[in-house]
Amino acid sequence: MKSLRASGHQLAGTETQLQLLHQVVTDQLKLPLFHEKLETAGLFPLRPVETAVFQVNVGRMCNQVCRHCHVDAGPDRREIMTRDTMQQCLDALARTDIPTVDLTGGAPEMNPHFRWFVEEIRALGRRVMVRCNLTIIVSNPKYHDLPDFFRRHEVEVVSSLPFYNADKTDRQRGKGVFEDSIKALRMLNAVGYGMPDSDLRLHLVYNPAGAFLPGTQEGLKRQFQRVLLDEFGIRFNDLYAITNLPISRYLDFLISTGNYRGYMEKLITAFNPAAAAGVMCRHTISVSWDGFLYDCDFNQMLDLKVAGAVQHVRDFDPEALSRRTVVINQHCYGCTAGAGSSCGGTTA
Ligand code: SF4
Ligand code: SF4
Repeated sequence: MKSLRASGHQLAGTETQLQLLHQVVTDQLKLPLFHEKLETAGLFPLRPVETAVFQVNVGRMCNQVCRHCHVDAGPDRREIMTRDTMQQCLDALARTDIPTVDLTGGAPEMNPHFRWFVEEIRALGRRVMVRCNLTIIVSNPKYHDLPDFFRRHEVEVVSSLPFYNADKTDRQRGKGVFEDSIKALRMLNAVGYGMPDSDLRLHLVYNPAGAFLPGTQEGLKRQFQRVLLDEFGIRFNDLYAITNLPISRYLDFLISTGNYRGYMEKLITAFNPAAAAGVMCRHTISVSWDGFLYDCDFNQMLDLKVAGAVQHVRDFDPEALSRRTVVINQHCYGCTAGAGSSCGGTTA
């Protein structure tokens, strides 16, 4: 399977995605636009609070081509953050006291400067989280020592596992992914990740396999913990339940399966003001592989840069960014439905 970009798909264009989202809300469903919903909740314009997370997308290259990927990542993507841009990120971080750096991709470990970057961030005294897809660890001998590298640098590992069986996981993420994910989880457990009495944190990310909202985060966590321990002897700390946002390859999935309109209606009717108040863009800055700044990873994939004059990490200005208004659009309904959704799970 190829990325949308490599196959020349019309949804590879961000303008097309934004137009489709606008059309379905206004012309087909005749429901309020996202900013109107925020207005009714007293949250428009949406303003940031103190930045807690500096999220860096170090590249769109990935060893997998998951069906729902909002990054449109894959082995055919060549966009990779250079060491110079990483240095600009480090310089920006040094001018702030943002406590957490969240590294994502693609598979962030495929960036040749990934380990150097982690070491430098740790040298600044910041906590590092990595969005590790698990299979990268077993994909090639050069990555087999990643669990030990993570352990030595006290990196927090956050990994997608859509379900606790091969059928559902492989349908979404590719053949053999479940088996390789289990192997990688065992390797992480073996060095202490997710184990009782260990400070090494291992979290799983659940996202629905179809066009529906996730069940309760706490219930899913208990279910995953029980099955993964009983059947595979695997332990983890927390589980984040994430709603699929209607962009990129998940938007393609919704349209091709005839679920697009129904899914948007579900998201909009499940709008929750409490979830909206806690959206992650209020406390996150997201940096793209080429150094541009966004309010979140989803805006990054839609090329919706932060509002204001400072739009690149080389010009990072925490003061100016704190005065910005968050850029929103119709995809934001994915973050505010039900219990809400963010890179750290529910928001309400
Ligand atoms: S592992 Fe993550 S980044 Fe890679 S294709 Fe799957 S969802 Fe996208
Ligand atoms: S998609 Fe991004 S900008 Fe929109 S509500 Fe979610 S986190 Fe905020």
